[in-house]
Amino acid sequence: MKKYVIALDQGTTSSRAVIFDRFARVIAVHGIEFPQIYPKPGWVEHDPDVILATQKEALQTAVKLSGVPVEEIAAIGITNQRETTVLWDRRTGRPVYNAIVWQCRRTAPIVEQLRAQGLEAYIRETTGLLPDAYFAGTKLKWLLDELNLHERAERGDLCFGTIDSWLAWNLIEGRPHVTDVSNASRTMLLNIHKVDWDETLLEKLNIPAAVLPRIVDTSGIIGMLDPEILGRPIPVAAMAGDQQSALFGQACFEEGMMKNTYGTGCFLLVNTGEQPVQSKSGLLTTVAWRIGGKTCYALEGSVFVGGAAVQWLRDEMHLIERAADSEAVATSVPDNGGVYLVPAFTGLGAPYWDMYSRGMLIGLTRGTGRAHVVRAALESIALQSADLVDAMVKDCGFTPRGLRVDGGASANNFLMQFQCDVLGVPVVRPAVIETTALGAAMLAGLATGIWKDLDELTGIWNADVRLTPQMEPCQRDKILHQWHRAVERCQRWIEAE
Ligand code: ADP
Repeated sequence: MKKYVIALDQGTTSSRAVIFDRFARVIAVHGIEFPQIYPKPGWVEHDPDVILATQKEALQTAVKLSGVPVEEIAAIGITNQRETTVLWDRRTGRPVYNAIVWQCRRTAPIVEQLRAQGLEAYIRETTGLLPDAYFAGTKLKWLLDELNLHERAERGDLCFGTIDSWLAWNLIEGRPHVTDVSNASRTMLLNIHKVDWDETLLEKLNIPAAVLPRIVDTSGIIGMLDPEILGRPIPVAAMAGDQQSALFGQACFEEGMMKNTYGTGCFLLVNTGEQPVQSKSGLLTTVAWRIGGKTCYALEGSVFVGGAAVQWLRDEMHLIERAADSEAVATSVPDNGGVYLVPAFTGLGAPYWDMYSRGMLIGLTRGTGRAHVVRAALESIALQSADLVDAMVKDCGFTPRGLRVDGGASANNFLMQFQCDVLGVPVVRPAVIETTALGAAMLAGLATGIWKDLDELTGIWNADVRLTPQMEPCQRDKILHQWHRAVERCQRWIEAE
């Protein structure tokens, strides 16, 4: 009887492999960090060969560490950093250039051209995204244009893919050129209503269809792992972008269920069911997953500076020594003392979208101390997330029943209780906070019969901490009111030259 499922979690800074048993318990983990390449200011690259080598090594080491016999592994699921773009030679399998990472801003001028062509509304409507250098489409165009590759691309000599595609091509027997729907929905080339590549956008960006991967379900057997890697073929049975995978790993299977991941930034996703919802506040519409041919959609919002505000307290302000110390310092005072931090260090995203705002600390008095500032920084993470929830509620018209949380900063109990208080809904932290990896494992286990359906998966998802709102509504309203006044004051700070 096969008992284990492995998730390959290919992230921005490390490649990890996590082995789960059929109760979704973590049996072994191995992660390997790899170098970031910054060729110019604002440019970010990864070496695709290094991504592949570290991912293979993480897999082999995790299996070795676990002591699990390879014949007992039922399936492998892949989850990955999204939008990062690779282009490779179909014959040799060699990348033609480094991977262009999601953070890379080099294609901003291409985005400006698309806007100038009046394509913003079309992109919004068709792809669910806002025109931005973040997404894979303009990165692919840059590669084809800058390296003069249009002829080779037209001839079908080149393969484009996000990291899921790159791993599938290299790890699966027979080298399939595929991508899953959730990753495809981050290219700015996918028509999310038809769930197919959009011919108009391909034409506008001058991208030949011959370079594009075949789109597959998020959960479903894609092929067998190259037997050279673990000594046996194992079904590779899922691929999903990291945030969608976390939504699945949090068992947010029903419409209106949502999760927030508190990492460097925060990523909030709400399941909107079979209908893509168009946001009025600049949230992104994305495919959550497609299983058995049925597409489920999500609305996504992100906070640029989440846990990074805590890093700032630690590394720049030297107010704390370790991130985890922020909790004790914040709770050493009874409240924020009227102090608010708006960490608009790189401008503000949804629902404000003001790239000219900058960070601001306001409400200082002679009695303001270090603890107030630390507390204000933690509160700002929750308040920004609350603004996203508010925007989602406005867009979808649902009443939130609760928020499932994960990511490094979700370990902070003060932050989680404050989040719960300002939202006025329960906050639930699961037993396994490796939700990104768990999602990929669940998707792969679902395709291979380890788990039979979503109900069974709902049953194996376990809450560790359940918080309920403790704050008086009038107190909450006051904090939100002050927060919004603070946000207003930091906007349009930078003057355009
Ligand atoms: P990422 O995947 O973005 O690297 P992680 O999920 O590893 O992020 O979380 C790390 C982030 O969480 C860092 O920004 C760190 O400052 C913050 N963090 C970690 N532990 C805590 C804590 N106990 N309290 C507050 N913030 C924390």
